Amino acid sequence: MSGGAAPAGWWREPDDEEGEAPAGPAEAPAGPAEVAEPAEAAGADAAGKADAEAPEARPRPGPRPEPRPGPRPEPRPEPQPGPRFAPPRAGGEVSAPCWNCRAPVAPRDARCASCDCARTHALLVCTEPCLELRHGPGPPLRLGRHPDWAPRTAAAFTGWNKVSRRHASITVEPDGTAWVEEPEAGSRNGTYLNGARIAAGVRTPVRDGDQLRLGLRVSFAVRLYGPEPGTG
Ligand SMILES: [Zn+2]
Repeated sequence: MSGGAAPAGWWREPDDEEGEAPAGPAEAPAGPAEVAEPAEAAGADAAGKADAEAPEARPRPGPRPEPRPGPRPEPRPEPQPGPRFAPPRAGGEVSAPCWNCRAPVAPRDARCASCDCARTHALLVCTEPCLELRHGPGPPLRLGRHPDWAPRTAAAFTGWNKVSRRHASITVEPDGTAWVEEPEAGSRNGTYLNGARIAAGVRTPVRDGDQLRLGLRVSFAVRLYGPEPGTG
């Protein structure tokens, strides 16, 4: 007699109670981050061009039934038709395409002469939110939702409240080693390297192939590209 429907609200996500500290409502919840927008000027420029000229020349069999509401599929950027670089054969030295602009870079060059990007860098790839970050030696790359503290990543993490406003930073040294560190204050939901939580305020080495996770869900695959050709 006293049976009946399951109690409403019995289903909860396990980590829902962890929110970000009571730092007030996230400022400007501008909707789900749509993606890593122009991270770096040079790269964004090329990408924009590719988008613009992708022609869609598919013969349509007939009138479409009904435009569906919802995200419109973007024209797929086609493989760039740009000039093809034949590797020079002089002295058995083979240039590899620059990771940023695809111009040929000789093995002994530490930087790309065309775009001035360092050969040594870390690549962080996250699928949700969709985010690809390349970062070379110099000041740390900060991961967080605070637009001033983490200008390169804050927009992408909008709405990802399990990512702290000042979550963690990545440093790449000229020798190709990379490090992750949480601020002294730590992050609420933790930073994990291959599943192990790192201690706040401690520089922790990151290796090629590692998995770096912010909280439970935001996970980066890390690739390291060292100063020598062929590494990483
Ligand atoms: Zn380049």
